[in-house]
Amino acid sequence: MAFNLTRRKFLQTASLAAAAVPLSKVVSATTGVTKAPLVAKGTNGDKTVVGGICEMCFWRCQLVGKVRDGRLMKLEGNPKSIDNGTAICARGNAGVQLLYDVDRLKYPMKNVGERGAPKWKRISWQEALDECGSKLKSTVDQYGAQGICVFPHGASAKYPMHYFERAVGTHNVSEASFFQCRGIRDTAYVATIGKAPGEKVDMPNTKVLFFIGDHLGENIHVSHIKAYIQGLQNGAKLIVADPRFSASAAKADIWVQIKPGTDTAYMLAIMNYLVKNNKYDKAFVENHTEGFEEFSAAISEWTLEKAAKECDITAEQIKEVAEMLAANAPNVAIHPGRHVSWHGNDFQRQRALACLTGILGAYYVKGGWVPAKGPKVGGVSWAKEDHGHKYNLNYNHEEDAKVYPYNPPGTPTELIRDCAISGKPYPIKSCVVWGQNPMQTIPGQEKMKDLFRAMDFIMCVDVMPTDVTMWADILLPESSYLERYDFIKTGTQWDLSKEHQQYISARMPLVPAMFERKDQIYITNEIAKRMGHEAKIPVKTIEEMVDQNLATAELSIEKLKAEDGIHIQPGKDPYGIPEDFMVRLFNEDIEDAGHPGAPTYKPVPQPPKGFARLLYGRAPVHTFNRSQNNVWLHNAMPDNPVWLNDQVAANLGLIDGDVVGFVNSDGVESRTTTTVKVTPGIRKDCVYMYHGYGSANPLLTIGVGAGVDDQSLITNLAIDPETGCNGMRNNFVKLIKDGKVLDIPA
Ligand code: SF4
Repeated sequence: MAFNLTRRKFLQTASLAAAAVPLSKVVSATTGVTKAPLVAKGTNGDKTVVGGICEMCFWRCQLVGKVRDGRLMKLEGNPKSIDNGTAICARGNAGVQLLYDVDRLKYPMKNVGERGAPKWKRISWQEALDECGSKLKSTVDQYGAQGICVFPHGASAKYPMHYFERAVGTHNVSEASFFQCRGIRDTAYVATIGKAPGEKVDMPNTKVLFFIGDHLGENIHVSHIKAYIQGLQNGAKLIVADPRFSASAAKADIWVQIKPGTDTAYMLAIMNYLVKNNKYDKAFVENHTEGFEEFSAAISEWTLEKAAKECDITAEQIKEVAEMLAANAPNVAIHPGRHVSWHGNDFQRQRALACLTGILGAYYVKGGWVPAKGPKVGGVSWAKEDHGHKYNLNYNHEEDAKVYPYNPPGTPTELIRDCAISGKPYPIKSCVVWGQNPMQTIPGQEKMKDLFRAMDFIMCVDVMPTDVTMWADILLPESSYLERYDFIKTGTQWDLSKEHQQYISARMPLVPAMFERKDQIYITNEIAKRMGHEAKIPVKTIEEMVDQNLATAELSIEKLKAEDGIHIQPGKDPYGIPEDFMVRLFNEDIEDAGHPGAPTYKPVPQPPKGFARLLYGRAPVHTFNRSQNNVWLHNAMPDNPVWLNDQVAANLGLIDGDVVGFVNSDGVESRTTTTVKVTPGIRKDCVYMYHGYGSANPLLTIGVGAGVDDQSLITNLAIDPETGCNGMRNNFVKLIKDGKVLDIPA
């Protein structure tokens, strides 16, 4: 983001971009309800098909597809949507390219070469399913259900994940979205306010937005960005803590260029200042918090000066932030973040965010954290069976105590990997990977390979080849989100202060699946039959599942289609705090489990001499690795230049565009190179790049070798002690230019 893009100009640009996507004339300006069916001939003879829900990222914007002669020509936001409206982002648009990507998986394949260097042979579904069913069954027969580990990701992985957890009975399930992304946020907030926070801050109506590392603008989710822009347009102040001049830092009223890993110290000092100076919300603290005394005593050491030294910022700046928050409380939006598994001290940082919101009284108020809910719709899946936790890796097998008392649902990845590699406390011999790419979502690639080497059987299900599918024995092609039904999406309008509305939608196919691609219900059920679980199968088809879900809200696929894919109904006023809502500023349960009961700062390792800390984040036109082969998105951002401080660059004799590679402090070198982006907008002790580049799979003809795979350089596994999640920013690198390793100056 250019430094000379002013805040006013940014807002103008954002408004123009939004305006460039015209609202359909058939939509009522006041209710958002369409006046005429959308399934009609368009002006150019195209048919508009309703019911699409995007999954180029997890946000799930509502779509319509322009279809000509059975071919999807264009995707647009559904004009009836009160979430994303007619807007979709670059990735959403590029879904058409994913659909028709020539590199997509088309048929079931068997690896007749080596794992990691496969040779693929096309086989029939019958043969593929027989092999998956018999190999997985044999693992269960020999080693028990816990002998299977599962790495799922995305909407389509939910049903198979439930099958393996509930019917088969393995707890060895590790979702990247939990253990490498947002799980730590959710468990920290559950331990503080009893709920996972989502991203539910009321940005359009806030007076102050407070971000720790959030880089909205580079991190794009349509209705979230609309809410953010609306907040800024309405005059909200923006406070951003980030070592880097991110897209958000560029719009900030206060940019705190904090030393990485010290955010908790920064927030403890803010809270201590508010408490010491009586600038916190006393009524809220009295009525809706627990443990204020213990909390305030625990944070009392964090003076402005002490935090300033630790965070490498000024005491005046921390005071300025605290004063701005106090002056505007309770209408302040302390953003919980999303991809927040950073340093191995993250549970405590997320607790600090939740507590800061509490002492400012910013829960359930306009402009604060507001859990606006969509309508309730029942779910249909595999029945829950109690298989006990006798073999649960998260228990100390001698003392029956939890190893990670606040782990997100599933089992921490490192416990699974250690168990699979060592065979202790029991063998894990089969691996199911469904929609996840553990080679580029989970740090420690060599460890991941060791897990695969220990397996008797590996099956992968995906839409595209990825770096992990190279390790599969059987590789199954899944229909994409544009070709199948899927789970229900519910929600409310993005601006909570407007007329209260809720919606229900379900993903419906915009075009039929091509080649031999199948949906998740078919694949899971066929494997279940072969593993002896036929009698437990909850639904025969994906349509049946969606219809059963919708029936709980007195809807059906047909009814939803007649309503242009989205049912809208009156909602509730989301503001107003429930009487029994409590913020556990000090949580005795955490202390009883052997961890600090009040948010506590734990220092993280600093870069060794000659190294810089490797930071990474989201690119605006990619969803990490998943979109790297998409030609439209690749052309928009073909690689991930490394941000390097301008003074450091001058010292090293590097200029913009120089080609560099990397070596980390464990001696691991990057497989590929990228270019240097010289900027004053990053601290001298860090470098930064976008995450997910540098795919190794040669079947990705566009994405292979494009940019640098940051994950390959993340070999130091910083495990968060409360949750078992992977902190991924305690890795340090030097640059390599023309074969010469360059020491980063102190
Ligand atoms: S934010 Fe973009 S990629 Fe994500 S669901 Fe919406 S349109 Fe799709």
